[in-house]
Amino acid sequence: MKTIGVLTSGGDAPGMNAAIRAVVRTAIYKGMKVYGIRRGYSGLVNGDIHEMNVTSVGEILHRGGTILNTARSEFFNTEEGLKKAVSMINIFGIEGLVVIGGDGSFRGARDLSELGVPTVGVPGTIDNDIACTDMTIGFDTAINTVLDAINKIRDTVSSHERTNIVEVMGRRAGDIAVYTGLAGGAEGIMIPEMPIDIDKLCRRIIEGRNRGKSSSIIILAEGAGKALELEKIIEEKTGMETRATVLGYIQRGGSPTAADIILASRMGNYAVELLEKDIGNRVVSIRNNKIVDDDINEALAMENKFNKELYELAQVLSI
Ligand code: ATP
Repeated sequence: MKTIGVLTSGGDAPGMNAAIRAVVRTAIYKGMKVYGIRRGYSGLVNGDIHEMNVTSVGEILHRGGTILNTARSEFFNTEEGLKKAVSMINIFGIEGLVVIGGDGSFRGARDLSELGVPTVGVPGTIDNDIACTDMTIGFDTAINTVLDAINKIRDTVSSHERTNIVEVMGRRAGDIAVYTGLAGGAEGIMIPEMPIDIDKLCRRIIEGRNRGKSSSIIILAEGAGKALELEKIIEEKTGMETRATVLGYIQRGGSPTAADIILASRMGNYAVELLEKDIGNRVVSIRNNKIVDDDINEALAMENKFNKELYELAQVLSI
């Protein structure tokens, strides 16, 4: 393979730039030509395709977001859209593609592979909701951002002796809530993977107060409920002042952590090595600190890797 392309798709995640840099520089190091495709699959069908060089990925390691921009494209996900994408790929002489994104993006990567364009997926999403990999690019940065917010909220909550519900991202996966709940010493964690017992939670808050606790923080994954609704319920049931904080998009931004930059660099490099061997229809993962790859369909069919042990540990330590 002499010419490859790279795009970012779906939600942005810190570390995507490090992955782009790794793809571009590995490809150039191996003597390949590399195109950056802007705005995800939308840019692919529109021919928003630009040759990249060593300097076009300079000074981006520390930047959040993605220099290639990202988008969602319904048109791409149609027969006509896919045809258009393949035609653009042929026009630019692209022989293989790296797609950095979440599982929706991997479905697109699979479709392209099936149409004869070897495509490799690299998991970039803050939610950590991709079953085949221990960690996705962006997750470590996101949990550090959330932890910082929890620690700040804790200062004011304990001064006022309140309860605060902190709503974090995670529609289908509670990983952000579990990891930050454990690291932030939260009194409760509410996630889509586990049933919610509001009375038990309220009892825990009341018992904490009775023991002299000055504050309680409950981490709520967005897929498990709405902080503003829970605020009213908990205040009513406990009779204690309760506030809600919805962290929103601050969780997606910021400079990537060293762990995310290193993960993205390893994954981007590995993706190019697969393409160099003409191998497509794969997803790159990290398992037990080793970079590995799986068939996209098998990766998409894997069962969610919810970490129940961490969830239970957080419960034990927050008594
Ligand atoms: P995130 O986890 O951040 O939401 P994602 O990659 O899952 O990232 P999606 O919006 O689901 O984000 O998908 C991104 C793009 O991938 C879509 O806009 C669409 O172009 C393409 N895509 C999604 N699902 C499919 C599918 N089933 N088949 C082909 N292409 C798809």
